[in-house]
Amino acid sequence: MRFDLHCHSTCSDGLLAPADVVERAVLRGVDVLALTDHDELKGLTEARAAAAQWGLRLIDGVEISVLWEGITLHIVGLAIDAGNEPLASGLAAVRAGRQLRAEAMAQSLADCGIAGALDGARRHARNPELLSRAHFARHLVDRGHAPDTNAVFRRFLTPGKPGYVEHQWPTLAEALAWIHGAGGVAVIAHPGRYDLGPAQCDRLLGEFVTLGGRAVEIVTGSHAPDEFVTWAHHARRFGLLASAGSDFHGPGEGYRDLGNVPALPPGCEPVWSLF
Ligand code: AMP
Ligand code: MN
Ligand code: MN
Ligand code: MN
Repeated sequence: MRFDLHCHSTCSDGLLAPADVVERAVLRGVDVLALTDHDELKGLTEARAAAAQWGLRLIDGVEISVLWEGITLHIVGLAIDAGNEPLASGLAAVRAGRQLRAEAMAQSLADCGIAGALDGARRHARNPELLSRAHFARHLVDRGHAPDTNAVFRRFLTPGKPGYVEHQWPTLAEALAWIHGAGGVAVIAHPGRYDLGPAQCDRLLGEFVTLGGRAVEIVTGSHAPDEFVTWAHHARRFGLLASAGSDFHGPGEGYRDLGNVPALPPGCEPVWSLF
């Protein structure tokens, strides 16, 4: 069985509509797919219908942005009840916060001579409620401010650069309460991206376990193969299960493609043993 438990559609910052994500996953040999749009559940209805047609098993998912010790973390919720009201209204508030952040980002870019970035980003966002830095990045590439989105992030959209603004995301406790309230399983997404020191790593994993979190992404488009082994080791130390997902955003967008998810390292207990 081929699992891919992390990917995005046009309902957040992916480039393919939910049904097209499902079709591509099927054609690439995925048996079990979780659609995990940023702070948004809207794509799951369309994805579920497509999955039923194709005979793919769809896991309802979400990727929630969180602020923890001043660091933005992403927490994936898997097998959530997408009709759960506290989860839906929590995410609606996060999306409203994204609008304000987008306005502040556009102002910050305008201050360094790049006007009109908010309208530009909005033109790239298929879901007007969900504005991501990725939409700004695509606009800035269009306008020739950088050769590709990776370069845009290096020059503009990361801490200390013009266009980056601090943002008050929900807390780790809030995100886990929403996921658990909706019957889901909480997973720390791409932990290798957060640049955690050893003590901070143990604090995060310890707090996450205390709050009822169950798994860590081991295999992800954001980890090099040596990080698969490092994070498998950390997961085992804290009794956490292992997850795996491409973090696919679109053809040619840097991350792994759907289903391009190598096997978990030996000794991992997969999170899908729960499903
Ligand atoms: P946001 O949640 O709006 O802050 O945007 C984060 C999104 O930007 C991530 O989910 C990626 O899709 C994208 N992103 C972050 N860093 C990079 C990067 N270095 N290169 C390309 N895309 C990135
Ligand atoms: Mn993204
Ligand atoms: Mn992420
Ligand atoms: Mn993601």
